[in-house]
Amino acid sequence: MKFVGAHVSASGGLDQAVIRAHELEATAFALFTKNQRQWRAAPLNEEVISDFRGACEQYHYSPAQILPHDSYLINLGHPVEDALQKSRDAFIDEMERCQQLGLTLLNFHPGSHLMQIDEDQCLKRIAESINIALDRTQNVVAVIENTAGQGSNLGFKFEHLAAIIDGVEDKSRVGVCIDTCHAFAAGYDLRTEEDCEKTFTHFSNIVGFNYLRGMHLNDAKSEFGSRVDRHNSLGEGNIGKTVFSYIMRDERFDNIPLILETINPDIWKDEIAWLKSQQKVAEAV
Ligand SMILES: [Zn+2]
Ligand SMILES: [Zn+2]
Repeated sequence: MKFVGAHVSASGGLDQAVIRAHELEATAFALFTKNQRQWRAAPLNEEVISDFRGACEQYHYSPAQILPHDSYLINLGHPVEDALQKSRDAFIDEMERCQQLGLTLLNFHPGSHLMQIDEDQCLKRIAESINIALDRTQNVVAVIENTAGQGSNLGFKFEHLAAIIDGVEDKSRVGVCIDTCHAFAAGYDLRTEEDCEKTFTHFSNIVGFNYLRGMHLNDAKSEFGSRVDRHNSLGEGNIGKTVFSYIMRDERFDNIPLILETINPDIWKDEIAWLKSQQKVAEAV
């Protein structure tokens, strides 16, 4: 089964995100469980939790189809002890919120060294942050997203993801989410079928599809290898539509949330319909 959707707004309540996904005819969705630009949020109360769970049940979304994303402020590889602690606490809070909502995945950007520690040290800190969070929570898988490599953000090489996984004790609760725009901006070509084959074979060798827990489907305004993170609508950027069709026809991407973070929400419904239509291309040939 392919699960396709978009990162929908949760304004007006977490249950509203579920309704928005349903209106898009999505079979997956992503959301923030709190304001992504703030450190603190009120704890989830029983009503919010039961409304969200009720909406998921009503519109048939299982935890496998939902990919919550954490706050942009969190840096699990922060070089400064106090700031690292603040990020770790906030990350545990995000994991706990997922757990309360009955969700089993939490997508996050790995972290940045801010030019103050080396890459290896930063990757070790990130792995340790994940270990601490997994220790304090249950059932939620920490899903590391690859990045475009802007600034000092790590995670732009598949080797970074592999190194973090290597440092995580409970391998059953760590995974990765590959963002096509980020991969392309980081120098992994996806423009032709051949490029896709090459990039995903490399991913398979370095990380492994057993760790793939989600995908972000974004075309790129950024240039190939530019290390700049600018999304675009499918087919309107520098990657083109081939990779998205490829993903929809390849069973290695089955049963995980495939999430649009494209720039025009007005066409998400069409983008989702187009993605679904691509599954049939293989059968028709
Ligand atoms: Zn993304
Ligand atoms: Zn991005």
